[in-house]
Amino acid sequence: MKEQIYMLVKLQGIEAEAGNIKSTLNDAHRELETLDAGLVEFERTIEEQESIIEELKKKYRDHESDTRINIDREKKTQAKLGSVKTNREYLSLLKEIEEEKAKNSKIEDKMIEYLDRMDEIEKIVAKKKDEYVQISHSAMNEKEKIKQESEQGRIKLSKLDEDREKVSRMIDPELLKKYLIIKKQNPGSLAVVPVKNALCHGCHVNLPPQLYNELFLGDSLKFCPNCQRIIYLKES
Ligand SMILES: [Zn+2]
Repeated sequence: MKEQIYMLVKLQGIEAEAGNIKSTLNDAHRELETLDAGLVEFERTIEEQESIIEELKKKYRDHESDTRINIDREKKTQAKLGSVKTNREYLSLLKEIEEEKAKNSKIEDKMIEYLDRMDEIEKIVAKKKDEYVQISHSAMNEKEKIKQESEQGRIKLSKLDEDREKVSRMIDPELLKKYLIIKKQNPGSLAVVPVKNALCHGCHVNLPPQLYNELFLGDSLKFCPNCQRIIYLKES
């Protein structure tokens, strides 16, 4: 029985290691997704800024054509000045010209404002693009590292699967069945636990002296009367 329990403990160890590797692989998968999501987010920010620049450019062009129209109008008004007959008409044309000039000057102010904003955003975009190059470079390295580690994990996992098969075959099927039932009842914890100084290391309750003594014989399967796990003696 001692040998059988030893095999169970070994099996349990293999399963725990495999479980750790699986959760590491899951973490790695999530990490890869996070890295990709970070890059996509970065690209999106750059695209957003670039579309703002495009909008500003469009506005700028619209204003540009507005000023052209206004300048033409102003020229025409100027031309009319030579052929006016009354002083009143003359003054009214001058007023018109002044108004057109004022209009254009307002538009030009706006255009300068757009240029300033474009310049500002272009600087931000250039900086973001530099950052993106660095981030994507380090993300690529990080991804490569994670992929390599994951590959090693998968190799180790398949080796552990083989070991698990091998060890399982060496265990009495009835005992294995009991182990699997207890394992199922204690998810995330051990099914076979050591006893040290009469203390069950599954539930930390003291064993009755009789049972503890019998454990020393190691000739039969024993269960903790408190947590029902399979127990074995661990000599300190
Ligand atoms: Zn116990």
